[in-house]
Amino acid sequence: MDFFPIFLDIKSKPCLVVGGGSVAARKVTQLLRAKAQVLVVAPTLTSELQALADKGEITIAQRGFEPGDLENRALAIAATDNESVNEEVSRLAQERYIPVNVVDNPDIGSFITPSTIERDPVQIAVSTGGASPVLARQLRAKLESSIPAGYGHLASLVEEYRDQVKARFDSVELRRNFWESVLEGRFYELVLGGKLKAAREELERALDEASHVTEPSGEVYLVGAGPGDPDLLTFRALRLMQRADVVVYDRLVSQPILDMVRRDAELIYAGKARADHAIPQEELNMLLARLAKKGKRVLRLKGGDPFIFGRGGEEIETLMAEGVAFQVVPGITAAAGCASYSGIPLTHRDYAQSVCFVTGHLKDGSIDLNWPMLAQPQQTVVFYMGLHGVKAICDSLIAHGRDVATPAALVEKGTTPEHKVHIGNLETLPGLVEQHDIKPPTLIIVGEVVDMHEKLSWFEPSVSSN
Ligand code: SAH
Repeated sequence: MDFFPIFLDIKSKPCLVVGGGSVAARKVTQLLRAKAQVLVVAPTLTSELQALADKGEITIAQRGFEPGDLENRALAIAATDNESVNEEVSRLAQERYIPVNVVDNPDIGSFITPSTIERDPVQIAVSTGGASPVLARQLRAKLESSIPAGYGHLASLVEEYRDQVKARFDSVELRRNFWESVLEGRFYELVLGGKLKAAREELERALDEASHVTEPSGEVYLVGAGPGDPDLLTFRALRLMQRADVVVYDRLVSQPILDMVRRDAELIYAGKARADHAIPQEELNMLLARLAKKGKRVLRLKGGDPFIFGRGGEEIETLMAEGVAFQVVPGITAAAGCASYSGIPLTHRDYAQSVCFVTGHLKDGSIDLNWPMLAQPQQTVVFYMGLHGVKAICDSLIAHGRDVATPAALVEKGTTPEHKVHIGNLETLPGLVEQHDIKPPTLIIVGEVVDMHEKLSWFEPSVSSN
């Protein structure tokens, strides 16, 4: 991220716009909306700017830019069509630590202006970091159409009742619970439907009703975050991610997904790398219960699906025993995600009528599995946690009768920008793993379906260059 996003209060503050064309006029209009005091410096001005000056809404100086124009300015915008003037304004402003924007040249100013969606008092600002104003405008158009026009009323009404609600509930949690339930319910629909009087009555009724609640009630959300690509989250996962007060997450949960949880939620890392059990499982189970009992909404965020090699069952057993409310949200398990993104259908009418998910986690160097069953033909076997046991896995399958030429794939960091597929067979896969510097997490898929990869491969991840 190259820019720090802020909303600047420039009410009644002296601001400078250098330039008198239509681009400058657009910036002036925006500054006036934020109630700034605007001086426009330019030898010639559009009739629109002239009219604003005639009405006394802006001050103009009809001449070229002079360094003294920057004196005591809170903000400057260079919007001339003369590059060297723009550069001079920018340089002098930055020498004086005055925030300065050069229109259409994000590189030489000190700030850029976002594309905005206005639902006064709500403002949404979109920036592509200067990469593409067109893209920012497209995003803006999308948001415009998905944010109802009544959103502004909603914010104004909430503001109107803020103090009253604050006075009724002394804990931040109770207050937040109240607003969340009100903003998800009838009140929200009434405001957006334009029925402001009924909306007020509804809010007052909810306030009366909620005043009797003294203890916030906590809950645990056991949520599957999928294999890595944030687009594979469920709607419910996303909704709960944005409600949580505390997030207890595993190593497998990818950073782009963590970036989507509520900003002010407390984050607790629960570990789970092979040799790194940051918090022992029993302690973790109790931690979830304890946090919820304090009234927190606890998001237990797990890679893939919480009920597939996720110990989700153990965690909710404790919650049950402790009388803590919880809900479970399934996620896309690694097998499904990695297989889809690698163009490997897990079943196929001709090659595999069943699929087995098994753990390849070694205990004492051996894997205690039903090998005769796994070595049967006409099925796909997916090994989770199998990287370190890849040799033992392949050898055992061969020893129990599976053909050495059975295709096998190792999917590295499936569905992420670093997604890679290594293809071999039961004989060659262990060697392939040794040759490459492979990073976890990885998944092993064994079976004839792996050959489909050649034909069906479609995902071309773009690894960023920086
Ligand atoms: N609950 C998870 C699995 C947890 S066990 C799920 O449903 O997916 C951890 C194992 O999952 C890892 O050792 C690896 O085998 C597999 N895994 C999880 N995410 C993966 C990914 N993005 N790519 C490849 N394997 C993955």
